[in-house]
Amino acid sequence: MIYPIVKFPDPILQRPSTPVTEFNDELRKLVADMFESMYAAQGIGLAAPQIGIAKRLTVIDLSNQKEPKDKIVLINPEITLREGKQFEEEGCLSLPEIREKVRRSARVMVKAQDEFGNWKEHEGTELLARAFQHEIDHLDGVLFIFRISALKRDLILRRIRKMQRAGEW
Ligand SMILES: [Zn+2]
Repeated sequence: MIYPIVKFPDPILQRPSTPVTEFNDELRKLVADMFESMYAAQGIGLAAPQIGIAKRLTVIDLSNQKEPKDKIVLINPEITLREGKQFEEEGCLSLPEIREKVRRSARVMVKAQDEFGNWKEHEGTELLARAFQHEIDHLDGVLFIFRISALKRDLILRRIRKMQRAGEW
């Protein structure tokens, strides 16, 4: 099932999600649906609040279905290590057409459960490190436009309001 993507300023995107406690078939169906919804929207990462579900669950696939080993499920994730810095452009399915450079750690280690409840460690550098940080931010109710300067954010918010008025958002 393909879920529609929730867009900013929906309040579900700006509040922390709750931990996943049940690792059952229903959860595994939701994970499969999240991959399907992400691919349909041409994204490389999707967090549950972006489909209106306030749970600490996110899926990532940088290869966009080309490499099965690139499919990553992060449930109840925590960043356990941060190293270095990077400053690259990000976008978000909940903020279509908006792109801005965001300061992130260059390398992160993430501890998370999979859809069966098993804990795993994931290492990310470059784009994958950005995806981990961006998606885990979603679970804390933080969008990337709140990690840039207030000046740049105001310009973006103004642009969004203009698009909303024109019926293009
Ligand atoms: Zn996003």
